[in-house]
Amino acid sequence: MEAGPVDSGPTDGDWAAAEALLRGLPSDARVLLICHVNPDGDALGSMLGFGLGLRRLGVRGLQATFPGPPEVPEPFRGLPGLDLLVPAAEAYPDPDLVICFDAASESRLGDLVDRLERAGAALVLDHHASNTRFGGVNLVDPRAAATSVVAEQLLTRLGVPLDAGIAECLYVALTTDTGSFRFEATTPAVHEMAARLLATGIRPGDISRRVFDTRPFGAVRLFGEALGRARLEPAAAGGRGLVWTWAGLDDLARHGQRPYVLEALIDSVRCTAEADVSCVVKQTAPDEWAVSLRSKGAVDVSRVAVALGGGGHRFAAGFTGHGTVDEIVDRIRAHLDGAVIGSVTG
Ligand code: 5GP
Ligand code: MN
Repeated sequence: MEAGPVDSGPTDGDWAAAEALLRGLPSDARVLLICHVNPDGDALGSMLGFGLGLRRLGVRGLQATFPGPPEVPEPFRGLPGLDLLVPAAEAYPDPDLVICFDAASESRLGDLVDRLERAGAALVLDHHASNTRFGGVNLVDPRAAATSVVAEQLLTRLGVPLDAGIAECLYVALTTDTGSFRFEATTPAVHEMAARLLATGIRPGDISRRVFDTRPFGAVRLFGEALGRARLEPAAAGGRGLVWTWAGLDDLARHGQRPYVLEALIDSVRCTAEADVSCVVKQTAPDEWAVSLRSKGAVDVSRVAVALGGGGHRFAAGFTGHGTVDEIVDRIRAHLDGAVIGSVTG
């Protein structure tokens, strides 16, 4: 957690405004739910769980979507509420209400950003400290472990009871952003929320195996290659150490894998004992790379990501890079010393 007023959560006025928006909805209102590009478990889980909650409230004109190709990553293809999803191209052009999930800024909405202007109202649910408050009403709680924490609070205020469908979505979101209850964000309140979700009868073993512990054999081999070329730089980040690797489109093609399988690669890299900072550079187009950064606590990697045009949390951040892998890692290295927590430049 960081200090300062930006870190305080929504005010009573913010909650009241959000409730008023949702309670006043006619049942035929066209409500468009949007989560961030390349959706992860928190983006999809908080969006679909909240969507199922709105359905229970009687809202019928619901759509859920995300920018880019309408492909749900395999680990999330069992999520309840997937029937709410529509391809971005088919999303209401001028919805009565837009609700955004887990997106720190408008840029994370890609081509769907135009819906914000054309919508009757826009509500933002998020937990990034860097959130730019781009909605008319913003429920942004940087102390929340996941966007699904904010989503559950709002559902409770609306009087929507948790059912197993809603709970499974919110559980996937909560476990994604807490690293299955391993990260510092795992507060007593997180476990209390998990207890409420589990009490609906959802099966945590099945869900975790499906979402976190299953990947095609081709991805296992691809991970092996990417890990085999990882580099350790003990002197980087003011001596805290950097470990990094990369995977290209040709690697994906050779192993017959979709790009999203690489999202889990950072978890196999960041366990390196000799480095505080870990990085995976993943090619998304001939001159475009999605970069993931993680820290064990000595370096504020969101500073590096923001300096390079991205964003995120202190210890988990990312950005889109251009050029060669070496050029991208050079740029990261140059920003790491200044991002060591407690360093004068930061
Ligand atoms: P991941 O490495 O899992 O893709 O992302 C880690 C964190 O960084 C997430 O909170 C995500 O929202 C943020 N992040 C990743 N890529 C980008 C990016 O290109 N732009 C911004 N603003 N944030 C990003
Ligand atoms: Mn999140």
